[in-house]
Amino acid sequence: MLKSCGRKLLLSLVGSMFTCLLVLMGPPALRSFADYFGRLSRARREVPAAPPSPPRPPAEDISPRDVFIAVKTTKKFHKARLELLLDTWISRNRDMTFIFTDGEDEELKKQARNVINTNCSAAHSRQALSCKMAVEYDKFIESGRKWFCHVDDDNYVNVRMLVKLLSSYPHTQDIYIGKPSLDRPIQATERISENKMHPVHFWFATGGAGFCISRGLALKMSPWASGGHFMSTAEKIRLPDDCTIGYIIESVLGVKLIRSNLFHSHLENLHQVPKTEIHKQVTLSYGMFENKRNSIHMKGAFSVEEDPSRFRSVHCLLYPDTPWCPANMVY
Ligand code: UDP
Ligand code: MN
Repeated sequence: MLKSCGRKLLLSLVGSMFTCLLVLMGPPALRSFADYFGRLSRARREVPAAPPSPPRPPAEDISPRDVFIAVKTTKKFHKARLELLLDTWISRNRDMTFIFTDGEDEELKKQARNVINTNCSAAHSRQALSCKMAVEYDKFIESGRKWFCHVDDDNYVNVRMLVKLLSSYPHTQDIYIGKPSLDRPIQATERISENKMHPVHFWFATGGAGFCISRGLALKMSPWASGGHFMSTAEKIRLPDDCTIGYIIESVLGVKLIRSNLFHSHLENLHQVPKTEIHKQVTLSYGMFENKRNSIHMKGAFSVEEDPSRFRSVHCLLYPDTPWCPANMVY
């Protein structure tokens, strides 16, 4: 991602709406700036927490085997990030977790059941990330499972809560659920042909918090998402992979995003997740927010120094019988 001062200066000089439109329609040299601006605005315009939605009665009895969780990673994060996930939530949910990466790693294959080398470029570019999302989608369709969920390698997934949430919706209907990271629909420009453009606006669930799509809806997305189509759809609007998913679902298919406050990215202040509600969240994250370290706040089995992400402590809270968790912890 480009973060040069000149670009930041330009950004502050030009009005935000105008800049956005200009950038989205601009020449190829400005495209990475569009990504940069998109992410910047995601971080800045975090939606204030809405009141929790009331519990919904189960619509369908599903098991973890009905869910396909795609974890997006890259070779340089196999040790730095994935190991933590393999030690914690993935260890309890090996059959439902599929790791999408960009390089061979024999060690990783021994530790995880489903590792998919996408052969996509290891860059953090829009195209490389869309390439991975395209493979995630195709593998999900191939799997025959009822639900597709996507997470990043800095997400903790509370699978019990995920299954509980998904079981309140029928997988045959059109369901797209996650957390928007903007407080308004994203404005984009659809390229219909070489010189024909069309403004569009739609909501999308931020990939960094994780999101899920029912099989019913995923099948309808096929003409724009399967095979090589996802990459060409992403090119049409020149936005990152999670925005492209939102575009296909909201703008093309006319299906609305269901907002859930149970998904969390590090683009929100994770300190605000109440301690008493941690076990009810579907996803958690850790990382940076407004240039500061960001993680959930909890007194747990491990100190912040031992467990900066807090994922090991969360895991001991959810699965106290884990061999490496201290016995008889009182929370
Ligand atoms: N990622 C990737 N290729 C890269 C860099 C990152 O596939 O070159 C993945 C990474 O593993 C993670 C996601 O993209 O799942 C988001 O990356 P990161 O958390 O570093 O950035 P963020 O967008 O959250 O600031
Ligand atoms: Mn991240």
